[in-house]
Amino acid sequence: MSGQAIPFLDVGGMVEMLREDLDVAWKAVLSHGRFVGGPEVEVFEARFAEYCETASCVSVGNGTDALELILAAAGIGPGDEVIVPANTFVATAEAVCAVGARPRFVDVQPDTLEVDPDAVAAAVGPRTAAVVAVHLFGQMADVDRLVPLTQRHGLALIEDAAQAHGARFGGHRAGSVGLAAAFSFYPGKNLGALGDGGAVVSRDEQLIGRVRQLANHGRAVDRRHVHELRGRNSRMDTLQAAFLTAKLTYLDTDNQLRRALMRRYREGLPPGCRPLTQDPRSEPVHHLAVVRTADRDRAIAALDAAGIGWGLHYPVPCHRQPAFAEFADGPLPVAEEAAEQILSLPMSPNLWAEQVQRICAVLRQVAA
Ligand SMILES: *Cc1c(COP(=O)(O)O)cnc(C)c1O
Repeated sequence: MSGQAIPFLDVGGMVEMLREDLDVAWKAVLSHGRFVGGPEVEVFEARFAEYCETASCVSVGNGTDALELILAAAGIGPGDEVIVPANTFVATAEAVCAVGARPRFVDVQPDTLEVDPDAVAAAVGPRTAAVVAVHLFGQMADVDRLVPLTQRHGLALIEDAAQAHGARFGGHRAGSVGLAAAFSFYPGKNLGALGDGGAVVSRDEQLIGRVRQLANHGRAVDRRHVHELRGRNSRMDTLQAAFLTAKLTYLDTDNQLRRALMRRYREGLPPGCRPLTQDPRSEPVHHLAVVRTADRDRAIAALDAAGIGWGLHYPVPCHRQPAFAEFADGPLPVAEEAAEQILSLPMSPNLWAEQVQRICAVLRQVAA
């Protein structure tokens, strides 16, 4: 092994750089003791809505809950179908099933691996109630086509923005284009908490109000002992809100660092190991550095030998997962072929350009 090991993701190292800010944040919460629903929650919600260039935000327990709460608040449930790309984290499909609706899996575009608007159009049927546009790997789905398409059919467009904090498409921020958007603050995301966290953002105040109620036991906003809806508990801890407000300050800088690293990857990787295409209308935030390679086993063996971390996002498309097999209706060739070829390389703001150069050099040797 030549050179130092490079982890796939060093979340501890990312947080270490912010130790002073995080110390101030938790001490503030400790001083007032309102660990659920403290003032830091409201501050974070206001800042994050503003960051997403939309009206309102409700903070919740995690990103999966955020998706489920949007679907429930939009009245989607048993008898409804929700169109979902096959190549996504399973949480997207889990949320659809959790409200009693059926996920209808569709294929993705071969160059970007984002949901294919033509496949969405072909899958719309009498039971379709919504489309989940997953902004995968930090690049937004083609909302220029998905917005008019869903409007034409009277469908809810829901953004799964768990991997796209700060991304833009045609100038529009992730979270500002659909009926509502779900964000995750799982520690490894572009904006990560020190634990689980999630948010729903939307311009639709009625929907936001329903999400807020559902996430807090269906409780009436102004009458504590009146439960108007059958809700649940999915609230963000005050501590996580305080940490996230502190970290939000650095999100744009971090995303810039990710873009710089991605440029290094594009320059340095061999022809047999190509990063996914960037749509010219898109400003991605590179949650993951995903490449396609025909000889993945050899690339992985070389990375392992050099002590370089890697990941697979995702090796099995959702419609091929045992949990969702009952919803599979036929092959989805683009997603299935991509699942065999994709490889995620290290990507985070605390990675150095020299480390990316070394990763590229290792992969160039595989190609040689
Ligand atoms: C992380 C993620 C989620 C789920 O978020 P959690 O906070 O882990 O529940 C949903 N969708 C996508 C695309 C994700 O990457």
